[in-house]
Amino acid sequence: MSNRQNTYLKAMGIDVWLERSPSNTSSQETSQPEASHHVETNVKQAEPELIPAAKTESIVAPDNKVNIDQLDWSALHSSVVECHDCDLSKNRTKTIFGAGNQTAALMIIGDAPSAEDELQGEPFSGQAGKLLTAMLKAMGYQRNDVYISNLVKCRTSENQEPGIEEVAACESYLVRQIKLVQPDLILVLGSVAAQRLLKSKSTLSRLRGQLHYIENINIPVIVSFDPAYLLRSPNEKRKAWDDLQTAMKELTNIAASKK
Ligand code: SF4
Repeated sequence: MSNRQNTYLKAMGIDVWLERSPSNTSSQETSQPEASHHVETNVKQAEPELIPAAKTESIVAPDNKVNIDQLDWSALHSSVVECHDCDLSKNRTKTIFGAGNQTAALMIIGDAPSAEDELQGEPFSGQAGKLLTAMLKAMGYQRNDVYISNLVKCRTSENQEPGIEEVAACESYLVRQIKLVQPDLILVLGSVAAQRLLKSKSTLSRLRGQLHYIENINIPVIVSFDPAYLLRSPNEKRKAWDDLQTAMKELTNIAASKK
């Protein structure tokens, strides 16, 4: 582990212990995403979900709306700003579309904007956002290197989890964002985001540690904890770091396979 990672893990609130072994003292060791060699990973590919998943086509906008799957970034953003397709539009002061690098290798998806996000105008603001920034730095990324969005683009009242109908109403926007970014890997944060996006009822602990795929999108998905949950449960940060390391290895392998 590099000194830089060590520093950022401490910023995440994770104590780092290193075993006294040759591998930990070798100058060759690296688990950073920029490593050019192939890194073996033990990540399993998840078995197909047993729960019937709704087809992506079933959530396209009604006939009187534009075809979201054809929109460019600007038109997609405008559509979201004007959207009133679910009840979440009633309480919002603004939509939170997404932020970051629109050609990122890594895309982060959470469940819903918080009230703080609405104030700041971007997803993952406040203390949870600071922790996410520290997590990304530990992976070797600046926040602007990745693209960040949520299942729904309007905050929920009292920061509740978004309902199935609300996620379905907003899903075509997220699917279009994913197709425009074309990331190598998607990191989904939190059980609600993971269950809604993967159409699964499995617990977060069962979803972690496996590769998943969103229906009709051939981009691997890794699931980890919501930073807001990690703030309340700091003992889980070490597991989150395991997930981030898995994501880094997958990204390294995907980058190597493209050469
Ligand atoms: Fe539209 Fe999504 Fe906001 Fe619902 S959450 S009103 S579907 S933009």
